[in-house]
Amino acid sequence: MRRKIIILGSTGSIGKNCLDVVRSNPKMFDVVALSAGSNVRELESQIAEFKPKMVSVASESAWSQLKKTAPKGVELLVGDAGPTELVERLNSEVVVSAIVGAAGLSSALSAVKKGTRLAIANKEPLVMAGDLIMRSAKKHGATIAPIDSEHSALWQCLHKEPAGRVRKLILTSSGGPFFGMTKKQLASVTPAQALKHPRWKMGKKITVDSSTMMNKGLEVIEARWLFDVPMEKIEVVVHPQSIVHSMVEFVDSSVMAQLGLPDMRTPIAYALSFPDRWPAKLASLSLSEVGRLDFFQPDFRRFPCLQLAYDAGRAGGLAPTWLNAANEVAVEAFLEGGLGYVGIARVIGKTLDKIVSLKVGGLEGIMEADAMARETARKFL
Ligand code: MG
Repeated sequence: MRRKIIILGSTGSIGKNCLDVVRSNPKMFDVVALSAGSNVRELESQIAEFKPKMVSVASESAWSQLKKTAPKGVELLVGDAGPTELVERLNSEVVVSAIVGAAGLSSALSAVKKGTRLAIANKEPLVMAGDLIMRSAKKHGATIAPIDSEHSALWQCLHKEPAGRVRKLILTSSGGPFFGMTKKQLASVTPAQALKHPRWKMGKKITVDSSTMMNKGLEVIEARWLFDVPMEKIEVVVHPQSIVHSMVEFVDSSVMAQLGLPDMRTPIAYALSFPDRWPAKLASLSLSEVGRLDFFQPDFRRFPCLQLAYDAGRAGGLAPTWLNAANEVAVEAFLEGGLGYVGIARVIGKTLDKIVSLKVGGLEGIMEADAMARETARKFL
C-alpha cells in the first residue's frame, strides 16, 4: 500500500526536497494533493510528474493560468483557504506542512484533527499555537514528525526515552552569515547580505531569520512544545560546521547527538519513513574530511532576537504568537527596504511591550492576537 501524501508549500525549498524524497521512493507514496503560492511553472511540472487529484494555489492569476494547462482530472482550488480544504476533503497518511509563516497554521491544525501524521517543516504554527496543536494531536492520535533538522535530531536522540530522563536539549546553530560581525557592522547589513547563508539553502524569510538568530529562538519555542521540555532546559550552542544537528543531555550526564551533512532530505526522509528508515542515495558524512567541529556560546547582545524569543517563550500565553507576528512584519519590511537590519529586533521588542490579554481562547484567540500584533508592529516601522 502506497502512503497517500499531501504536500503544502510544494514549490518552496522544503516542498521540492520533499518531492525529491518521494521521487527516490516511488513505490512508497501516492501524491494526492499539492499546494503552492504563485510559482505556476514549477507547479505545472510537479503536476505532470506526480499526478495529484487536487491542487491549490494562492493567487487568482496563478489559478487562471493553471486552468489552461492542468490535465482535465485535476481539481483546482484558489485562495488562502485552499490548503485547509485539501486536507479536510482528502484522506491521506501524511501531510507535509511547509507553508511559510503563520499562513500554515489552519491547515496544520486540520491535519492533526484528522489524526493524520503531520510532517512539519514550518516552525511558525508551533510557535504561535504549540499548546493547541500538541493537545489536539494527543486527542486525535496524530503523530507530529519534525522536519526541521534540529528537531529531527532531537527526535531521533529522544527515541523512546521518557521526558523525565532529559536534563536538557541542546540546539545547534550555524551562527548565520554574521556570526563574527561587530554591532557596528551589523547596523549596515543589507537584504542581499542577509540572504546569503553559509550552510543551508532556504527560502528568504527563514534565511533572514537565521541571520538574526530569530530562527534559533523560534526553534527553541518549537522544541519546547514538540518535546514537552520547559524553556529553562533548552540551550543553544553555535556550531558553524552544521554537522551536529542537535543534542540531548540525559539525567545521567550522557549526551546523545545526531550528525550528518547539511541536507534537508535526511530529516524529510525520516519524517516520512518513521518508524522505518529507508535507504537513501545521499552522500556519506566523512568526519576526517570535515576535520574539526567547533562550538561557541551565542551572543545575546549582538543577536537580541534570540533573547526576545527566550523572553517570549518564558512569558508563555500569547507572547510567542506576538513575537512571531512582529517578526514576520519586520522581516518583510526589511526585505522590501523599509527597515534597517537592527530595526528588526527593535520593532519586535517594542511590539512585545504592547501585548494585551484576550478573552477568547483557542484558534480564534490566536488569530486575533496575530492580527493585533501585526497592526502594532506596523506602527513601529
Ligand atoms: Mg532548523
